[in-house]
Amino acid sequence: MNAKKLEYFKKLLLAKKKELEDELGELEVKFNVSQQDSSSDLSSHPTHVADISGDAEDRESRSCLITSMVEELAQVNRAIKKIYSDSYGICEKCNSKISPKRLEAIPYAELCIKCGKNS
Ligand SMILES: [Zn+2]
Repeated sequence: MNAKKLEYFKKLLLAKKKELEDELGELEVKFNVSQQDSSSDLSSHPTHVADISGDAEDRESRSCLITSMVEELAQVNRAIKKIYSDSYGICEKCNSKISPKRLEAIPYAELCIKCGKNS
């Protein structure tokens, strides 16, 4: 891959990384605030079981969202490292080049289309 193209994908990845980090930061702030809210709720209404279970579900879906974002961020970070180590755009399974079209859609793709389909 030529330097110009590599620079272009690096910019895409760094923008994605910033976007994810910002969103995660916001989510974590909200998450912490609502956790404090619910704990003060619990102490004042210890018998409201329905409230507690609803809260747990909410917390679970939020932590699911955070987990998937953390995973995406890790993939973005790996892709950025690959740019620096000159292995960006190479399929991790078969070592062939990942098509620029695929990288355009998913800049942090780790597998070529063929291996992506088979996995
Ligand atoms: Zn492959």
